[in-house]
Amino acid sequence: MKIKLSIKKKIILFIGVVILVGLILPQRFVIPVDNATQKDYNPKTFWYYPWGKSITHKGVDIFAKEGTSVVSSTSGFVIYAGQIGLGGNVIIILGPKWRFHYYAHLKDIKTKSFSWKKQGVCIGSVGTSGNAKGKEPHLHYSIVTPIPYFWRIDFDHQGWKKMFYLNPLDYMKK
Ligand SMILES: [Zn+2]
Repeated sequence: MKIKLSIKKKIILFIGVVILVGLILPQRFVIPVDNATQKDYNPKTFWYYPWGKSITHKGVDIFAKEGTSVVSSTSGFVIYAGQIGLGGNVIIILGPKWRFHYYAHLKDIKTKSFSWKKQGVCIGSVGTSGNAKGKEPHLHYSIVTPIPYFWRIDFDHQGWKKMFYLNPLDYMKK
């Protein structure tokens, strides 16, 4: 009984350490489209309303020529690389601080699910897949935290969701 408890404690301690390390990891950041600058996105794009089925726009759209390389904004683990309805070809990467980085409307995907990606490496290319069909080619990029940041909630449309969707523009300023 005693041994069992100590193993349980060790497991809890281990999980605690893993979570803590994830939180402490610095989030170094690059704009996730090759050679993109502040001119390639609208600074008012985050939480733009109205935004069709999504109600509000929970990310940033970075415009570029179709086929331009999309690079990983932070280092991380590829949770998913494949197709999702509205997003089209998408990649989801779990990065530092337990944040999910979502890349959508890709022309093609150059990574696999369950692989590790260093910051700045090519993971796909800019396209018009999903509900970007017929629009200007762009990368839809958003950052989601599964750990809710309650203090960010406000009275905007769907403002309560701001505890999960972080503003990528905060990290793209240079
Ligand atoms: Zn978008």
